[in-house]
Amino acid sequence: MNESKDFLRVIVEEDLKKGKYSEVVTRFPPEPNGFPHIGHAKSIAINFGIARDYKGHCNLRMDDTNPTTEDTRYVEALKDAVEWLGFQWEGNVRYTSDYFPEIYEYAVQLVKMGKAYVDSLSEEEIREYRGTVMEPGRRSVYAERSVEENLDLLERMKEGEFKDGEHVLRAKIDMSAANMKMRDPLLYRIRHAHHYRTGDAWHIYPMYDFGHCLSDYIEGVSHSICTLEFENNRDIYDWVLETLGLSAPRPYQHEFARLGINYTVMSKRKLLELVNEKYVSGWDDPRMPTIAGLRRRGYTPESILNFCHQIGIAKANSMVDVAQLEFCIRDDLNTKVPRVMCVLDPLKVTIENYEGSEELDASYYPEDVPKEGSRKLPFSREIFIEREDFSENPPQGFFRLTLEQPVRLKHAYIITCKEVIKDGSGTITEIIATYHPESKSGSDTSGIKVKSAIQWVDARSAKTVEVRLYDRLYTCEAPEGVEDLNPDSLKVIKNALVEPALITEKPDVRFQFEREGYFYADPVDYSDEHPVFNKIVGLKDSWNKKIERIEASVDRISASVPRIKAKIVQIDGEVSPMSEAEQARFEKYTGELNLNNEVANTLTRDEKLSSFFEAGLADHNSPVTLANIVANEVARELKEKEASELKFTPAQIAELVKMLDDEIISNKIAKQVFEEMVQSGKNPAQIVEAQGLVQISNPSVIGPIIDEVIAKNPDNVEKYKAGNTKLFGFFVGQVLKATGGKANPQVVNDLVTQKLQ
Ligand code: ATP
Ligand code: MG
Repeated sequence: MNESKDFLRVIVEEDLKKGKYSEVVTRFPPEPNGFPHIGHAKSIAINFGIARDYKGHCNLRMDDTNPTTEDTRYVEALKDAVEWLGFQWEGNVRYTSDYFPEIYEYAVQLVKMGKAYVDSLSEEEIREYRGTVMEPGRRSVYAERSVEENLDLLERMKEGEFKDGEHVLRAKIDMSAANMKMRDPLLYRIRHAHHYRTGDAWHIYPMYDFGHCLSDYIEGVSHSICTLEFENNRDIYDWVLETLGLSAPRPYQHEFARLGINYTVMSKRKLLELVNEKYVSGWDDPRMPTIAGLRRRGYTPESILNFCHQIGIAKANSMVDVAQLEFCIRDDLNTKVPRVMCVLDPLKVTIENYEGSEELDASYYPEDVPKEGSRKLPFSREIFIEREDFSENPPQGFFRLTLEQPVRLKHAYIITCKEVIKDGSGTITEIIATYHPESKSGSDTSGIKVKSAIQWVDARSAKTVEVRLYDRLYTCEAPEGVEDLNPDSLKVIKNALVEPALITEKPDVRFQFEREGYFYADPVDYSDEHPVFNKIVGLKDSWNKKIERIEASVDRISASVPRIKAKIVQIDGEVSPMSEAEQARFEKYTGELNLNNEVANTLTRDEKLSSFFEAGLADHNSPVTLANIVANEVARELKEKEASELKFTPAQIAELVKMLDDEIISNKIAKQVFEEMVQSGKNPAQIVEAQGLVQISNPSVIGPIIDEVIAKNPDNVEKYKAGNTKLFGFFVGQVLKATGGKANPQVVNDLVTQKLQ
């Protein structure tokens, strides 16, 4: 098993070692009131993953104690999601509603012990009597009821004699407990509603705090794993089981941080609103963060599990960048799917010196993908290319077809533009070109230099398809509601053109459309007569690209602009296969050195970068951090210069990395120091020293800064405490800003968590 175990696995192992349990039993306990989302995937991966790793078992339990919102279609969606992710629950699906009679008997037992009473205060009075964090609560006069009276009332509650809200059953614990949850928590409430499974049999339903621990006990669960917001409920969990004297082994509750992703909402209530108000086409709309949505979009189970693995399990809430999820699917598909050609916005090209037709051999996979297979690409006089791959007035750095600049048609020939034909309004309708017969891909003797290869389709044999381009559902990082929806999250292209093999051979259901991104044959709407493809994800993080473009236009005078442009163009250019030496290097980087594919690819393909990287590594063996700096920061410098022209050396960059690893400086400061190194060539330690950039990790320095941020933002504190946990990032951000980025983010995270409790 993995060396670095998460804290839950550490607990499980200790419990097994001590012999506390003979078998690990976990459960995934969703409420069937909506489709499961990516947050549930995390919980599924944890519960089923732990059971699998320790050879125990995991139950799938519908926590169905709320009759008004639950439905069997959600039960089905939950079962689907667990199975699709590759897990299997033990035995039948369990339902808390199956335990209603048993749970009720436990309630009767508590009443008989004098540990529970029927209260008849109104909801508002109950709240008022509970007191505040500063003041103890007071107990209701009804707490004095005799056992007989309580038993009688509870029975009559069950039989439906009273109206909703007239009475509740409460545990008799402690109205002045420091933990407010322990101030006589509610165990049962009256609900006259039809339950999707038990029908009208029950008029009272157990509260979560009572039903959950008992369901765990009934099922023999050992580790009851839930999210952090239940931390304070743990005392009730233990109280119920202990007071009832339920014998060991009994379950214990452990909490982990729930998953939050930026640009996403994760509450089922908000997702339900999107579905009900038709902002999306359904629970499985490919823009939804539901498992059904991700699945229909084209995500693979592997990519989602890998994402859950990467984000890890922690005890502090944090916000994960949606780009990380996107990275995981790209990373998965990169090594699996065929490359094919699609033109989204076709522009006709007539090749005037080409006669007849031919079929070109084209491999489905690039050389670095260990898969075999190829198809025939029909080629003739009339083809279509992407409209934006031609420019009459090319901006600087435009590498594709222009009036002066030839371009390669991927897998085919080099063409040169001869003439541009326009309609009355000045729109280009056609390009007349010539091809170079001796430039055929694989046997090119033309000697013509081109700067990129573009995708194309043969006009006669191309198939028309519908392509659905998805973008993020929300425009802002911490969306509150529908007001933050991205109006451009779906763009439908009805008349895109694809090469015929895609439809006739169907080499797969997922593809890379060359230079466009990864696509998936829509599992619902696709037919051979009307093929439909969903865009899963672009080839690169387009949101970053957009930001770079904005930066580029705002910051015209900055010397970095041409570099940024170069980076964008490079993304659009053709990627050539790796040589054998490069391949070996790539394998070493991704294997032994544990670099991610993207970084490894960047370094591998650039001799200057890989030499720089390896020289630095000899001084300080921290491959991942070093590689990131070399692939990003150093790469920018080496784009225009030779290594010998740089003012800094690999050894100095290694020193910078070491300071990062030792947490002397933060990532942000490292970037700042790097900029200074570029200019002055000074040693990083010298720069940090001279400018007082040392990272602040001391809680007694950071604490007061957090207090100030909290004091200045009472509204956000209130919203956060009311449940808008996405604001966590706001507080952390403010503190980092106040310290000029010098505060140690981990320490800030921990302290903010503490202080906002
Ligand atoms: P929501 O707030 O979206 O309605 P929930 O917690 O009410 O979520 P449940 O169906 O009760 O949803 O959750 C089932 C299990 O999944 C619980 O154990 C819960 O802790 C876990 N879970 C729900 N959301 C997340 C999340 N974002 N990250 C991790 N686990 C989650
Ligand atoms: Mg819930």
